[in-house]
Amino acid sequence: MKKRIGLLYGGKSAEHEVSLSTARAVTGALNFEEYEVYPIFITTDGEWRRGERLEKPVSAIEELQFGDNTTILENNITDFLLDKNGNEVKFDVIFPLLHGTNGEDGTVQGLLEVLNLPYVGNGVLASSAGMDKVVMKQLFEIAGLPQVPYTYFIRSEWKNEQHAIIERCENNLNWPMFVKPANLGSSVGISKATDREQLVKAIEVALQYDRKIVVEQGIVAREVELAVLGNDYPEVSVPGEIKPVTDFYDYDSKYKDGSTALIIPAELPVETVASLKELAKRAFKAIDGSGLVRADFFVTTENNVYINEVNTMPGFTPVSMYPLLWQHTDVSYPELIDRLITLAIERYEEKQ
Ligand code: ATP
Ligand code: MG
Ligand code: MG
Ligand code: MG
Repeated sequence: MKKRIGLLYGGKSAEHEVSLSTARAVTGALNFEEYEVYPIFITTDGEWRRGERLEKPVSAIEELQFGDNTTILENNITDFLLDKNGNEVKFDVIFPLLHGTNGEDGTVQGLLEVLNLPYVGNGVLASSAGMDKVVMKQLFEIAGLPQVPYTYFIRSEWKNEQHAIIERCENNLNWPMFVKPANLGSSVGISKATDREQLVKAIEVALQYDRKIVVEQGIVAREVELAVLGNDYPEVSVPGEIKPVTDFYDYDSKYKDGSTALIIPAELPVETVASLKELAKRAFKAIDGSGLVRADFFVTTENNVYINEVNTMPGFTPVSMYPLLWQHTDVSYPELIDRLITLAIERYEEKQ
């Protein structure tokens, strides 16, 4: 019997467009002999729209956005489980291809848990812990993973104790500092500050995106990422290096100018690769990951390694780092998708 897959994509976050290109690529990689594919589209306004079952891979992104005449599921979100005649579609697995808020942060995962549906990728806890940079850093600290020094605060503390916070940053962290909204991705709201004036500005910018702010000590280092795949016994890919041409790996260098070089495998001593692989696995376990994560590291010229973060739903187009890392580790894009679907079903069955 064919497996019924619900592809869930789009979404309200800043990463809506990225999600659409991922969804298109995934329909191109799924074997239609093996899978029945149902598109479920979340608009930028957060409306859920259900499309007809796909007969073949979609060639244009517009096909995934449907027309205005498609069913809008505003009354009852669980209507996405019904076909056009109102009969329930029994999904074998939901594949959330969503990044950021309401997708990567455990909220959609919670909805799918409540509906008792198997789904690809991390569960509620790992997703939300991976989304909140403060919680993630605290879990990494407990797991003994090396990190750059940091501090954090919330909006109301900034309002009332601005001077104390600046002092705390200056006393504990060296310049430059990186200021980040705690719950975002794609470098949105992140700035580098080289003095007190810039720090204040950077904090004001970050506060537009989140009530919780992280300030980190900047590090001069190479950026190296590894892909983790699995549930209880995860596997780790070869490392890949990112070489942005900009000052740091900001939003535009990720999605706009296309000039960032990805070097796979990264040129590193074998011992460094071994320690990165071990740390990536420990980071995955520290957040109680399942399915996949991309673990992002800093590697200094002395080959000292620091973890920056994990992403629980990393960029997933065929030209994104996560799938490319697996391709260089002998797991093709279609094979990777099959593996993720199998892992989702295994995790679900283990829980029953
Ligand atoms: P994504 O989820 O898209 O990977 P993000 O929004 O979660 O990104 P980070 O990965 O934390 O953000 O930071 C974005 C970029 O900013 C990094 O890839 C790096 O170029 C730079 N950066 C962040 N923190 C530091 C730091 N402490 N020192 C030096 N550079 C940093
Ligand atoms: Mg991130
Ligand atoms: Mg991210
Ligand atoms: Mg990152």
